[in-house]
Amino acid sequence: MSDVQFKQIVSHAKEYGFVFPSSEIYDGLSAVYDYGPNGVLLKNNIKEYWWKHMVQLHENIVGLDSAVFMHPRVWKASGHVDAFHDPLIDNKDSKKRYRADNLIEEHIAKIEAKIEKEVKKARKRFKENFDEAKFLAESPRVQKYRTQIEEIQSRLSNALKENNLKELKQIIIDLEIADPVSGSRNWTDVKQFNLMFETQMGATEQSASSLYLRPETAQGIFINFNNVLKTSRVKIPFGIAQIGKAFRNEIIARQFIFRMREFEQMEMQFFVRPGEEMKWYDVWKEKRLQWHLSLGFDASLYRYHDHDQLAHYANAAADIEFRFPFGFKELEGIHSRTDFDLSRHESFSGKKLRYFDPETQKSYVPYVIETSIGLDRMFLAVLSASYAEETLPDGSTRTVLRIPAILSPVKAAVLPLVKKDGLPEIAREIFDDLKWDFQTIYDDKDAIGRRYRRQDAIGTPFAVTIDHQTKEDGTVTLRHRDSMQQERIHKNELKNILKNTLNLKTWLG
Ligand code: ATP
Repeated sequence: MSDVQFKQIVSHAKEYGFVFPSSEIYDGLSAVYDYGPNGVLLKNNIKEYWWKHMVQLHENIVGLDSAVFMHPRVWKASGHVDAFHDPLIDNKDSKKRYRADNLIEEHIAKIEAKIEKEVKKARKRFKENFDEAKFLAESPRVQKYRTQIEEIQSRLSNALKENNLKELKQIIIDLEIADPVSGSRNWTDVKQFNLMFETQMGATEQSASSLYLRPETAQGIFINFNNVLKTSRVKIPFGIAQIGKAFRNEIIARQFIFRMREFEQMEMQFFVRPGEEMKWYDVWKEKRLQWHLSLGFDASLYRYHDHDQLAHYANAAADIEFRFPFGFKELEGIHSRTDFDLSRHESFSGKKLRYFDPETQKSYVPYVIETSIGLDRMFLAVLSASYAEETLPDGSTRTVLRIPAILSPVKAAVLPLVKKDGLPEIAREIFDDLKWDFQTIYDDKDAIGRRYRRQDAIGTPFAVTIDHQTKEDGTVTLRHRDSMQQERIHKNELKNILKNTLNLKTWLG
């Protein structure tokens, strides 16, 4: 998908009430967005699809909704005060600000693109005889590029691990990386920049104490470990799931809702016996990918990326990456967080955060596997994978969102063919019946073709048209969004068809 198409998706999202820039009448607020009437429906459906999978379908996972504000020591214990920063670099000529590690990663991506180009060229040359694996293993050019990538990756990962800001700048100089906007190589030194938003709690300045807006929802789960353990009947291994807002003062926040300063996370912390974490890490890696695939988008849109470089709390980590319009990028992280968080909270709070295992008769700090997905990124993934512009057999075009029906903002549109002859009354009756179970729209404005297009554009899987025959035999036309096929069914069958299509078991079972 091209940049052009990405721009079209962004403007489609605005035009059809999915996503608006925040504070638009005041010229917007950078990297903050609001969700419109269709956006909020889609977002809620994604939440529900995740929540039901986690909490309703797993007996051993319970939910939580903790506050955004937490005691400031939480962030000291978690390591965020000291270690949650990104390396920042400014270009002195363009005055643009970048993440030093991103500039280097983008350079690597350019070399990767060169490899892809070589493959394309070779495929053209050798046609049917082309053996991609052999070519990748043997082409001297590809080998050269691969060695370059490995060298850069290893320097980058060492520099980040050692917090070596001088070396980060040196890599940028050695690779002759230029500002993507101005082409200038006039860089400042690299500085660390903490991503947490700080605010004050309390009425007067003297009595006020500094707080942070949470940069992740996970810590709310850890600090409630004892409360959940005491009040639910979970036994190890068990999980606590939470959906909520998180805030990060991102250095650069482009790419629409991919990187925001206020966003939402859907996180689940799974507590296991020490020593069993790798088994559960593999289980959750697989389960989470299956959840994504259950939506029916092409499997080639997803891939794992195993981390070589680990965060301070992790002993294994992988991303599920999604092919966004601007390339493969992290959609979800699966992290083996060891006993880092609970142990740190034990020592900072002085309270025991342990589990007494009735099977082994031992008490221990459990290990944790985390699955963490950005709700807004998931929203963008759904939107970009669903968006299609099609030319129809009659030469006309349509823009359609092929959103999986279970997530579609609106499930059915009820459309009287004309605004007379008693058709609106029948349509209203059908609408009033369906609305109790499904988000439904009633629309009698404009010609029927235009009404279909409107529903295609917001991803409504079914359109129900009431015409003169309905008056005689109670049948309606059911139009399917993706195939545009129409079938004649009795109006009494509608509810069942919708129920079957939206049956959670057929999606997640
Ligand atoms: P990135 O490397 O893209 O900054 P991260 O590794 O810092 O992401 P995590 O801390 O693992 O991300 O957060 C878990 C998930 O939260 C991510 O997989 C992503 O989907 C989402 N997320 C993180 N930061 C943002 C953001 N600024 N805007 C939207 N979603 C985000």
